[in-house]
Amino acid sequence: MLDLDICIVGAGSAGLTLALLLADSPLKIAVLDKDPAPELVAPSLKRVSALNQASKRLLSQLGVWQDLTSAAPYTDMKVWEADSFGRIEFSALEQGCDELGWIVDNEQLRSVLYSKLKSKTNVSCLFQSSILNISNSEQQNLLTLQEQSPILCKLLVAADGANSFVRQQLQMPIAFWDYQHQALVAQIRTTEAHQRCARQVFLPTGPLALLPLADPHLVSIVWSTSPEQAAELQAMPAEQFNKALTAASNSVLGLLQLESILNSYPLKMRYASEWVLNKTVLVADAAHTIHPLAGQGMNLGLMDVAALAELISQQISHQKPINEERMLRSYERWRKAEAQTLIAAMEAFKQGFGRQNPLLKLVRGVGMSLTDKLPFVKQKIMAAALGDSGDLPAIARPGVK
Ligand SMILES: Cc1cc2nc3c(=O)[nH]c(=O)nc-3n(C[C@H](O)[C@H](O)[C@H](O)COP(=O)(O)OP(=O)(O)OC[C@H]3O[C@@H](n4cnc5c(N)ncnc54)[C@H](O)[C@@H]3O)c2cc1C
Repeated sequence: MLDLDICIVGAGSAGLTLALLLADSPLKIAVLDKDPAPELVAPSLKRVSALNQASKRLLSQLGVWQDLTSAAPYTDMKVWEADSFGRIEFSALEQGCDELGWIVDNEQLRSVLYSKLKSKTNVSCLFQSSILNISNSEQQNLLTLQEQSPILCKLLVAADGANSFVRQQLQMPIAFWDYQHQALVAQIRTTEAHQRCARQVFLPTGPLALLPLADPHLVSIVWSTSPEQAAELQAMPAEQFNKALTAASNSVLGLLQLESILNSYPLKMRYASEWVLNKTVLVADAAHTIHPLAGQGMNLGLMDVAALAELISQQISHQKPINEERMLRSYERWRKAEAQTLIAAMEAFKQGFGRQNPLLKLVRGVGMSLTDKLPFVKQKIMAAALGDSGDLPAIARPGVK
């Protein structure tokens, strides 16, 4: 029997970051994942995420950021609506910072986090481990594993992603709705240089994002569209897809050409109504998933684990139990408030831009152009996108280098 303080299920960005945040504490921790360990290989850029300033501050504090060779900064953002005059632009210069955000390779982030964890004596990583059963009581959790010793832990953290096995096993209720969007993700070569500008066009069927990578002629696309159109686009020969993509992007980067395979992800909003059950707690995608149109899901999850680690560390310094219900509930209240704000904002965006009524389109166009001319409003929108607003964990607050 492995007797632990904390067992973290899921070695994604959230689970590994939590383990690293607590790695220098007196706690005995294990991270468990059903898949093999991430390997330190050259970034494939298969899946990337736009990370904000708050996430960068957190990962810098952990000594991880410095090793993220794939992190490509962007200094500008342009958002517009297809067939409309409505557009809004943001620049780092205008915000008084050097970058608005960074595009990071998801797998490289995991492998750097894991490589840092390997030297920590109080954290063990168990890969290719299958959980058979979880028994969750008011005192502790017992996990039975396939062909491995069982685990007893004071606190179980579910960081096992959108379809969380832990959440389902413990029957923790979840609200969800289908965004009726499929996200097509690929690397694209452009004839015009992207000039470190992240672009997003709202099409009648959904948003198309062009995220600038380190190569000035390479972008990662996230094309969220109806399942029917996604299936059609995926079935097209590359040449036909390139034409459709170039047209959808208004040729802002010249001719676009598929450089990788096209992956597709169904998009759902998920929100667990309870994030705490006895001595188990949900974090990141296990607790919430949002539309990727504002590139905030991973940022939100990283702040969840920073908040939880902060509260656990306070419990340790006050010599209180690390699984105290009062503390777990205060984590839940803190992070639910942040998640709810983003879920509502994403829904407003999706609903707002989904309506093609000409009058509504006109109002949106006027609204976007007006917003573009109002420095105060732009500042507010940008602070949220940079991750500088809201109730941030101490480690990610502005001013922390
Ligand atoms: C198309 C798309 C684009 C996105 N773009 C952005 C962006 O630009 N910026 C941004 O901030 N966010 C973005 N996101 C969101 C972001 O990808 C997620 O929020 C983030 O990856 C979630 O991290 P996680 O660690 O919670 O979960 P995951 O990355 O899903 O990790 C979960 C881990 O748990 C493991 N696991 C699962 N089940 C079990 C089990 N039964 N037992 C043990 N282990 C298990 C898995 O193997 C995995 O390693 C995007 C999402 C999508 C779909």
